[in-house]
Amino acid sequence: MQQFNPYEMAIEQFELAADRLGLSEDMREILRKPKRELTVNFPVRLDDGRIKTITGYRVQHNVNRGPAKGGIRYSPDVTLDEVKALAMWMTWKCAVVGIPYGGAKGGVICDPKNMTASELERLTRRFTTEISIVIGPHSDIPAPDVNTNSQVMAWMMDTYSMHSGFSVPAVVTGKPLSIGGSEGRNDATATGVLFTTRRAAQRIGLSLKGARVSLQGFGNAGSIAARLFYNEGCKIVAVSDTTGGLYNEDGLDPAAVQRYKLEHGTVATYPRGQRIGVADVLEVPCDVLIPAATEGVITDQNAERIQARIVAEAANGPTTPAADIILFNKGCLVIPDILANAGGVTVSYFEWVQDLQSFFWDAEEIIHRLEGIMNKAFDAVADKAEHYSCDLRLGANMLAISRVAEATQVRGIYP
Ligand code: GLU
Repeated sequence: MQQFNPYEMAIEQFELAADRLGLSEDMREILRKPKRELTVNFPVRLDDGRIKTITGYRVQHNVNRGPAKGGIRYSPDVTLDEVKALAMWMTWKCAVVGIPYGGAKGGVICDPKNMTASELERLTRRFTTEISIVIGPHSDIPAPDVNTNSQVMAWMMDTYSMHSGFSVPAVVTGKPLSIGGSEGRNDATATGVLFTTRRAAQRIGLSLKGARVSLQGFGNAGSIAARLFYNEGCKIVAVSDTTGGLYNEDGLDPAAVQRYKLEHGTVATYPRGQRIGVADVLEVPCDVLIPAATEGVITDQNAERIQARIVAEAANGPTTPAADIILFNKGCLVIPDILANAGGVTVSYFEWVQDLQSFFWDAEEIIHRLEGIMNKAFDAVADKAEHYSCDLRLGANMLAISRVAEATQVRGIYP
């Protein structure tokens, strides 16, 4: 089987939308490729005195609607093509919710699960220094992603500030509250998934009270979504992390599973449930499926067996274009990543605005504004999809790409 390539997938999705929009070949050429791709190799001293040379990336896909924006992931499997795909999806994501940013993404090839806190700090500080030639509060603003968190953002903010000689909180988002983070940012991705799922459920006449929810991934997006959907009255029937899956048709208590994971490092062996595979959580009987881990997990190999009525993509790029067709034909409503998980970058935008003004809002205001933006974006995407008789992904991509193309067109070509 051919190796899955996220960038090829992102391009395939782009061409589908560009075809329907009748986008010119010149415009496609501009939008297909990232504006900048920075690869850095740098040494990091390990605790035992050895030195390891690490590779990292920062890719800026497009900046016509505003500064580049997007997270940084730490993983042994990161590739440049993956980061390019994720950067392109960030451009469409910011455009679909109408926040004034372009798209970027970063990645560092490392295994944070096998590194100490001080090794991670040195890696983060050196990586920040290496990419400081392209990041900045008005040029490119990183945030957390897979295996990075508010502590990593604090180190990035501090490193950038040390080089500047004064504090620059607006250079990254997803920071701790004590140094210019925002209320609501930690839960924002999952909160946005809940808001868009509510909207989707309304459309298909599904009540979320008692609805069965299965989640893949138990990081920032998955574990918090499990809690929020549980509080909404849903029954959490399956969860998983990288070590395995867990199923209980009578429902799991996500807070108890979370405590178990903190103690034992896994959800899979939690006693009140049946152990299943990581991929099996996608196929269990459920009403709402939330892929919240990584790319390319729903493919033409398993899409037919998915039983959910709604797939809410908390992860970026979990569904391949071939699987999209299968799910659409089955009548399964997929809320695409660039819409479903846009709550994260939307509250990042609020954080950045608050940092630039040094004026902070309360949690209520954040949630209220987030709900307004998510609902408006969902309705605009659903209208587009209805008008073109297509799935929500194509609707979202058409809406986003036309906004970016318009900004590119009106700015013109320099010189
Ligand atoms: N990493 C998150 C995403 O994929 C958040 C990005 C951000 O807040 O800039 O959307």
